[in-house]
Amino acid sequence: MNQMQQQTDKLSVFEQMESEVRSYCRSFRTVFTKASNAKMWDVNGKCYIDFFAGAGALNYGHNDSNIRTKLIDYLLEDGVAHSLDMATKAKETFLLTFNEVILQPRRLNYKVMFPGPTGTNTVESALKTARKVTGRTNVICFTNAFHGMTQGSLSATGNRFKRAGAGLQLGGTTFMPYDGYFGESLDTSFMLEKLLDDPGSGIDLPAAVILETLQGEGGLNSASSAWLRRVEQICRKNKMLLIVDDVQMGCGRTGTFFSFEDSGIKPDIVCLSKSIGGYGLPLALTLIKPEHDIWSPGEHNGTFRGNNLGFVAATEALRYWKSNDFQKDIKRKSEVIFACLERLAADYPDWISEVKGKGFIQGMAFRQPNLAAGLCAVAFNNGLIMETSGPYDEVAKLMPPLTIEDAVLKQGLTIMEQALKEVIETENKTVKYAAVAKVEVTYK
Ligand code: PMP
Repeated sequence: MNQMQQQTDKLSVFEQMESEVRSYCRSFRTVFTKASNAKMWDVNGKCYIDFFAGAGALNYGHNDSNIRTKLIDYLLEDGVAHSLDMATKAKETFLLTFNEVILQPRRLNYKVMFPGPTGTNTVESALKTARKVTGRTNVICFTNAFHGMTQGSLSATGNRFKRAGAGLQLGGTTFMPYDGYFGESLDTSFMLEKLLDDPGSGIDLPAAVILETLQGEGGLNSASSAWLRRVEQICRKNKMLLIVDDVQMGCGRTGTFFSFEDSGIKPDIVCLSKSIGGYGLPLALTLIKPEHDIWSPGEHNGTFRGNNLGFVAATEALRYWKSNDFQKDIKRKSEVIFACLERLAADYPDWISEVKGKGFIQGMAFRQPNLAAGLCAVAFNNGLIMETSGPYDEVAKLMPPLTIEDAVLKQGLTIMEQALKEVIETENKTVKYAAVAKVEVTYK
């Protein structure tokens, strides 16, 4: 039996029993057993470097040993694991730590709402809050946005394939061009302003604008600080709430705890999930300016709002943010990633059109979209896990854990570079063969 057959057999349980909707196990065709920081191992003992980090849920890496110790201690002490949204010591400690380490130093004042534990849960609760506060229904969202897979968040998501899965008419949203959608020379915030100012534009005054400061799934498009500030002003002028979906970009992914910190905007609502759970544990927060916290008790609830293991892990994870060292380290390592990508873009200008993203979420956009998936496939074969992004899956995206060791980061970049060379070589050969075949056909 060759290795390919062995791998196919290993996956047979999933192929027979798991729904056709499964996805990542199709790109990464092996069965994983162990993981530590930025490395994963499969059943054959093969080691992979993880440049995907649970799609942003593992900013602090796999199995951080301090967090693990806290979790084990909590379990051994018979700490409450499930408690709906009852008051627990674990929740209290988390709230106090979050306030002390994150909110206060940034002069942010938010009430914390615990929706269900996923990204889409926080987005749904944010949309409901904005509609309830303003009494309006329409929400402005942006081209190539990704906010989740349930009805409300999917209504604000651009991807046509994903939207079609809803099976009904998605509504209550108006899509506007994101920053840079028409190129650098056109500031799309002016279009938004004009359309909202104009009573004849056909756009109902919205309850909110929801945006990602950097579109993780939508192709690593980033909004400039100036654009974000203009959008904030437009929100204020039209009495709309500004919602920042920091589900993927929060918790340090772009270099600061909140992705909007450097821009100076103060969103009315912030959605956090993924890495807030510290250890890859499901947890989500919806941060709401106190004046907008107009919920009645139990008006929006759910069984898994705030799980205590999530609180224990999240509290310990916040230790990374107690000093500036972590942030400095993210910056230093993200410059290593940027330098590597810039060099590759300069070496292969016919193939790579652009280096995109920032901090610990960067990538290469390919002129020929399928090369991004080709690169990820070869990289996986060579021991590196990374994914594509963008409407045509044209961007090969790197998002390692923020805690990745320097040597492992370098090793991962080397594997990626090698994979890139292999993919381009294969593509060059295919193009040559196709050209020869064409010449032969022409001369027949
Ligand atoms: N918002 C953003 C910006 C996301 O990237 C994601 C997930 N990729 C979500 C929301 C949805 O999160 P979840 O998959 O946990 O529902």
